[in-house]
Amino acid sequence: MADAEAFIREFLPWFRPVPPTRPGVCRICHSGPNNVGDTGGPWGICVSCKCTTKNLYGHTQQVVPISLMTKNSQLYDLLVRRTDPRGAGGRRNRADVLAAALSHFYHRHIQCLEGLAGGPFTLVATIPSNNPEAPGKAFHIMWQVVGKVAALKRLWQPLLLEPDTTFARVLAARHSHRDAFQVPRAGRLDRARVLLVDDLFVSGAHVQSAASALIENGAAAVVALVIARLINPASKDPYSAGIWKESCERPFTFDRCCVCDPARGGA
Ligand SMILES: [Zn+2]
Ligand SMILES: [Zn+2]
Repeated sequence: MADAEAFIREFLPWFRPVPPTRPGVCRICHSGPNNVGDTGGPWGICVSCKCTTKNLYGHTQQVVPISLMTKNSQLYDLLVRRTDPRGAGGRRNRADVLAAALSHFYHRHIQCLEGLAGGPFTLVATIPSNNPEAPGKAFHIMWQVVGKVAALKRLWQPLLLEPDTTFARVLAARHSHRDAFQVPRAGRLDRARVLLVDDLFVSGAHVQSAASALIENGAAAVVALVIARLINPASKDPYSAGIWKESCERPFTFDRCCVCDPARGGA
């Protein structure tokens, strides 16, 4: 996707900047709230991340969303309602739009992502989905999307098996589980640095369960790159509305991410 930048330009207004980690912004999922008051640490994690990272073999602290997103937005339609978007040039294939966003972001922020992993990625994985209400109708959009990005396709391997119906229900209820994803041919991930690509981060149940399976099978580092982190500005917590307001007030650009944003560590 050499022309990813030009292709994605018309969809830029659909994206919202993701705040860097700082007090009030969860250091895993980059939305609010964190529980800094409970942990006493410089930057806490939110209640949702606290739930989805416990009782696992391991989890990743490194989650990089490209955009924040609310329900009833065009990005939500694209990712969740699976609508092929209409741009200035007519209707676009949604996998092409996602691939353009992923490709442009990845190439622009490869140093940010590799820095979190402690070195160049050796493997790329996607998370197989399974709708518990329609078993057998698995929908692997990100596998298709990664296949359109040469730099990621080169490193992609089918590292994670689709969860069975029981675990699909657990994940759909936003609970993580260390056995939700199985890794075929155990032991092949020896010290791998894995870029885990997914479309949507809601609670982190899928990402963290997948990270746990990869780490249990030998991965040295797992960095999750997700298209969008869903945020609920109507939440009663004292952070989400403020984070969303701030995000809407800053223009989105692919030139910065939540890792290299110069506002990182600010008050
Ligand atoms: Zn969080
Ligand atoms: Zn960056």
